[in-house]
Amino acid sequence: MAGTVVIFDFDKTIIDCDSDNWVVEELGATELFDSLLPTMPWNSLMVFVRFSSDFLLCRLEKLDHIVHLVRFQDRMMKELHARGKTVEDIAEVLKRAPLDPRAISGIKSAYALGCDLRVVSDANMFFIETILKHYGIIGCFTEINTNPSYVDEEGRLRIFPYHDFTKSSHGCPFCPPNMCKSKIVERIRSSALAEGKKRFIYLGDGKGDYCPSLLLSEIDFVMPRKNFPLWDLIVKDHSALKAEVHEWSNAEEQERVLLQLINRIAAGNAAAATVPLLTVECKLEMLPVAAPEPLPKALPVSQ
Ligand SMILES: [Mg+2]
Ligand SMILES: [Zn+2]
Repeated sequence: MAGTVVIFDFDKTIIDCDSDNWVVEELGATELFDSLLPTMPWNSLMVFVRFSSDFLLCRLEKLDHIVHLVRFQDRMMKELHARGKTVEDIAEVLKRAPLDPRAISGIKSAYALGCDLRVVSDANMFFIETILKHYGIIGCFTEINTNPSYVDEEGRLRIFPYHDFTKSSHGCPFCPPNMCKSKIVERIRSSALAEGKKRFIYLGDGKGDYCPSLLLSEIDFVMPRKNFPLWDLIVKDHSALKAEVHEWSNAEEQERVLLQLINRIAAGNAAAATVPLLTVECKLEMLPVAAPEPLPKALPVSQ
């Protein structure tokens, strides 16, 4: 589907874990992680997440949000390096991160069908590249948008914010200071639309995936992971969302729903061009917020 752009979050969407937590836990550094938390400048960071409908209820969530800030990731890498953990150690751990074979086949099939695949993630480039290369699927993606990283002359992994919030704010009150994914998706959308790519499918699980979901139009699709924060936000209030919503719970469902949507777009385009179609019935689980229309028939996908 040359006219379709598929945008993936990374943590808990492509891989079935949070890559930061994975590295910390697998390197046996959970205690170190916990001991560093109180040393971080929470108060100065709290100002970035001040806009909330329910301040008290969100305080815990805010801490969770802040923990993922890039400054903390970078500090954590410094401490790991000081304790003798090399970049190779980190890479070895990342290669064991859970990536379901069905998620891989879903990505490969979407690519084989001609979709333009992108990653938009608040993890970092080293983590994402290491994992996607290891599984042989990095070539399926047109671009990876994430926090930049590099290995310095001492062999320490350095991680920097995608958006340098020390210089200016990205201006979105709902996202962490280092990244508002909707700014990235906005750019992807306008350049893709200019190239004639008209349809967008967005897959994600986290709170940070809500902001970009709001950008999508009526002909686009959001695929939130069921019972994860993005899904919760959509279920709680879908009035601002225009795209059609299709939930998934695991990699098997992710692959199935994604390929059905891609085929549905293909079927619509083909029908518009009055090309005869070989079709099969398909069934999607739809959230109550989705349009109540039955799904059109879809093309079978060769695996
Ligand atoms: Mg995620
Ligand atoms: Zn935002």
